Amino acid sequence: MAKIAINIATGTLQQAEVIVGIDLGTTNSLVAVIHPETGKPVALKEHDSSALVPSLIHFSEGGQVQVGNAAREFLISDPANTIFSAKRLMGKTYQDVSCNAHPLAYTIVDEADKLVKVKVAGKYFSAVELSSLILKALKNSAEHIIKTPVTKAVITVPAYFNDAQRQATRDAGKAAGLDVLRIINEPTAASLAYGFGLDKTSTKTIAVYDLGGGTFDISILTIANGIFEVLATNGNTFLGGDDFDAAIVEYWMNKYGFINSDTAATHRQQLRLDAEEAKKQLSDQQAYESVYENTKLQLSREKLHELVAPLIETSIACCRNAMKDAAISLADIDEVIMVGGSTRMPLVKKTVGNFFGKAVNDSVNPDEVVALGAAIQADILAGNTKDLLLLDVTPLSLGLETMGGLMDVLLPRNSKIPVKAARQYTTYKDGQSGMKIAVYQGERDMVKDNRRLAEFNLTGIPAMPAGLPKVEVSFLINADGILLVNARELRSGIEQSVEVKPQYGLTDEAVEKMLLDSMEHALEDMQMRALTEARTEGEQLLQTTERFIHKNMTMMSREELIETSQAMQALQLSIDMADKNLIQEKAAALNTISKPYAERIMDEAVSKAMAGRKV
Ligand code: AMP
Repeated sequence: MAKIAINIATGTLQQAEVIVGIDLGTTNSLVAVIHPETGKPVALKEHDSSALVPSLIHFSEGGQVQVGNAAREFLISDPANTIFSAKRLMGKTYQDVSCNAHPLAYTIVDEADKLVKVKVAGKYFSAVELSSLILKALKNSAEHIIKTPVTKAVITVPAYFNDAQRQATRDAGKAAGLDVLRIINEPTAASLAYGFGLDKTSTKTIAVYDLGGGTFDISILTIANGIFEVLATNGNTFLGGDDFDAAIVEYWMNKYGFINSDTAATHRQQLRLDAEEAKKQLSDQQAYESVYENTKLQLSREKLHELVAPLIETSIACCRNAMKDAAISLADIDEVIMVGGSTRMPLVKKTVGNFFGKAVNDSVNPDEVVALGAAIQADILAGNTKDLLLLDVTPLSLGLETMGGLMDVLLPRNSKIPVKAARQYTTYKDGQSGMKIAVYQGERDMVKDNRRLAEFNLTGIPAMPAGLPKVEVSFLINADGILLVNARELRSGIEQSVEVKPQYGLTDEAVEKMLLDSMEHALEDMQMRALTEARTEGEQLLQTTERFIHKNMTMMSREELIETSQAMQALQLSIDMADKNLIQEKAAALNTISKPYAERIMDEAVSKAMAGRKV
């Protein structure tokens, strides 16, 4: 438990051990702790400065590294050696980044499907290393402010971060010398900060709309008796203020003719900061004007709204999906909490308010609320806050590949975490000694349309007839949202497990596409599933019949043998033709033919076994 004292001389917090909450943002990051006197979360800041630390890193030729405000000026004077939006690179490959991100001023290295690296000042850095430099700077500054070593932290991530991105964040913490006690979802953290001050006996259903610099998340939660339960979450890890800035830059590039110049790329980079400034100013005023290389840059609030309205609309589509998954109606939402710098835009507030049918709650500081929530979670983990409990969910369904390439979902999306689910499987061939366990993430019925996370073989299953081994596969998702898969043959006890550590994560578009595809292809998927099931059943019927005939041939008539063989051929043909109705029809015909002699032979076998015994 944390021991806390106040340094009388300086009035600062002094704590023997402290667990901090860190919001590691795309644009800005910050650290918060629970104030020992008030018991309330506070964002840490040096004197009167802002608590926000820009998520920027500058590498000088001499090997000096500067993080935060000190790196800001280099965005213009030395863009090639100044890294921004490192969070967008977490858990990504070169392909993921090069086809998704806005043009980056620094160099990313193409190394096939390996995790992306950045080349800066003659050295190579992974996204984990870059994020760890930011975390290290945050740790140092926090230690300086509270005059206490900081070694333990809760770090927030977008709810839509997949396994690889969560692992990368955890690794970055470790590299910065932090023991990351928990990774929590940003919107869930925000709800903790919001619900912290609420009367513990009240029950509320809230929507947390979180639009930051690079990512968008929507979460629907209920808060009852201090229990925070996430009902559903949805989002897009490539939607945020950066996209608004890029839309403005494109508009200016076209309007002022920069697009056709030889130095278009340089203009684009330099206009980025102006675009962001214009966007921010237009949150409070109607028009923006500045001068760039003898050109008067102009933007009206009306034009800005026209440029960003389609982007904001895509966030509303996510809200609609989350509401559907939560299975509640818009009227059930008591509050809509706004989080993230981009929710300062009047058009965002208006569009979101219109969708939920009520004015949004923008009373919490959208920049600090996530870090404050992380500090509350840190305090819960330290054992100081006992009357709050967080129940989070997993954003995408997890399952196994079964016969015919079908996705068998063990944990549907929006399952509460931590969670464990298990299901039993068996072999389909006599004497089968191994079983492939292939784990997939996604919403489609066929695994080929989903994302494979891991694959391993459970080997050494003792020889048994098909259908006899009992292989129990269990999925365990821990509180960080990281998956552990275990397979165990129950009769023999042989066992194997893997922690799912994919080489690289899903691209954000892939996550979104998976959800859209699952809706778009629902009918097609259903038909495919029905065909695959019919085919598997047909194949199994052929195998059992063949085995039965082989064993009992002497007890069957010539007619029965010919008729059965014809029916089997017809069934095989229907399987080859992939015609579901025909397969079912031919399977039924084969069953009708084999039923009378199968029953007769079984009866004979029973009477033989019973012969001479008294009942
Ligand atoms: P966050 O990731 O939550 O720190 O949000 C950063 C994003 O919020 C950046 O894209 C900023 O440009 C944007 N932002 C900050 N302040 C404002 C504002 N007043 N109006 C519009 N966007 C803003």
